[in-house]
Amino acid sequence: MNQAVTPHEQFKLTYSTMFDPPAALHAQFEQALQDCKAQRLGRDYGLWINGRSIRTDASFAVSSPIHRDWLIGRFAVASAEDVHSAVTAASAAQMHWRSLAWQDRASLLRKAAALIEQRVYAISAAVALEVGKNRMEALGEVQETADLIYWYCNQMEEHHGFDRQLPNDPLVGFTSTNRTVLRPYGVWAVVAPFNFPFALAGGPIGAALVAGNTVVFKVASDTALSGQLLLEAFQDAGLPDGVINMLTGPGGTTGQALVDHPQVAGVTFTGSYEVGMRLYRQFASGAYPRPCIAEMGGKNAVLVTASADLDRAALGITRSAFGLQGQKCSATSRVYVERSVTTALRDRLVAATERITVGDPTARENWMGPVINQDAYERFQACARNLRAHGKVFTGASVLTDAGRDRGFFVAPTVGSADFGYRLWQEEKFIPMVLIGEVDSLQEAIDRANATEYGLTAGFYGNQEELLAFHDRIEAGTTYANRPQGATTGAWPGYQPFGGWKGSGTTGKAIGSFYYLTQYMREQSRTVVL
Ligand code: NAD
Repeated sequence: MNQAVTPHEQFKLTYSTMFDPPAALHAQFEQALQDCKAQRLGRDYGLWINGRSIRTDASFAVSSPIHRDWLIGRFAVASAEDVHSAVTAASAAQMHWRSLAWQDRASLLRKAAALIEQRVYAISAAVALEVGKNRMEALGEVQETADLIYWYCNQMEEHHGFDRQLPNDPLVGFTSTNRTVLRPYGVWAVVAPFNFPFALAGGPIGAALVAGNTVVFKVASDTALSGQLLLEAFQDAGLPDGVINMLTGPGGTTGQALVDHPQVAGVTFTGSYEVGMRLYRQFASGAYPRPCIAEMGGKNAVLVTASADLDRAALGITRSAFGLQGQKCSATSRVYVERSVTTALRDRLVAATERITVGDPTARENWMGPVINQDAYERFQACARNLRAHGKVFTGASVLTDAGRDRGFFVAPTVGSADFGYRLWQEEKFIPMVLIGEVDSLQEAIDRANATEYGLTAGFYGNQEELLAFHDRIEAGTTYANRPQGATTGAWPGYQPFGGWKGSGTTGKAIGSFYYLTQYMREQSRTVVL
């Protein structure tokens, strides 16, 4: 694994700096990309259980969505017995791990975060090839992972390990002391989605571990290499055997066996509403409730009023609707615009969309890459056909197969419109397709934005007075106003806590926030009479 200059040594990398990427990044990324193609791709990988790599009889191949002939690697399929071994190992390692001073746990985890930073280019190259992200998005995700781990370690430190002395009881003749401590739950399962396989596994793992839980994690099958690279950073930091265990395999079998395991004390799941809600119900319906942090989908709206800066709005919407090919949980998929500026906004949006370069996203000139797999490719085509039949297409709605793009899953970013009853206003499709609809007022825009089961992110373009109403009434956990860097996307730990309301998240607490880490611990009140 390459040791590269950490971006932090040169500049602060966040999703906002990607708006205007520093030149120094490119040479290192390109070198890392060549190294990754030559040295990393095409290998066989096992599971990781109790500090050992485990080979299995069954395996699956992952190829790049950029080019189907690029073999990312072959990965083991974990059986129910393998899942049991991983959970048993995590359970056995629990007592030692939780009895370490929290400072020692934090120091090991900071070491893991530092390794991720040192390897940021090498890991990002692999993430770009595997997920189909452009280089800035890939670098951002990997750096964000390190920042999330640091954040949770800092939270532990700021709260002195969440161990507090309380006043003695007012008893005559006794000294009755009181303390409250937050303690870990036990074995924590982490299940991550394909679109941020590194950050949405690494962040929860960092929080669970620093809190004193041990972990079994599984990333999505399309992005198994990202899981492997994450595991290597934690292992190389020197975590004791059994503290972190990694499984690969299908969600319906390997993932299900993991969340069904009776020794799993809590879970962080990030993925679709359908799976997340099922899991939430399952965790509430056992012999006793177990914590289930489920971060789920979004149907994120942008509201544009007649007083908005339309150039800014068009830029922010384009970046958020089509960044990572519309496959962010925070992607913009709905725009509500006041009638008097609809045409002006739409023209700008269509022009900006048509300027987007779509192709191999590891090449500097391409901003948009492919969608993740054949299923997403077909879903896009079905939606495009349906939109043509039932609504209007202003640009896009086609697949892109020229200039070598037929070997990957490339599609055109799409702007369209339809009546408000059309299902695309409600359903998350996870493709680069945005609808724009006219409204009479900001009130109507807010009502329509809220009329969905989701509540993840929302964007606003307008004046300060209107902003008060937006903040007061919008049902979303993460909001952005008048932001050209992205209308609904681009949260960074320590800057923008990121979480969803309603059907977008089960806890009302955001990732990278002041309130996140305590969810991985339970309180024990300790009264001792001396
Ligand atoms: P998904 O629900 O298909 O899969 C997510 C993970 O769950 C994968 O690792 C998968 O293998 C596993 N899984 C699937 N079925 C399972 C089961 N029955 N038991 C246990 N695990 C199972 O989601 P995806 O397609 O990988 O990701 C896209 C979705 O994730 C979108 O809905 C997106 O909005 C959401 N997402 C939400 C956030 C957030 O922070 N709210 C962030 C990223 C993605």
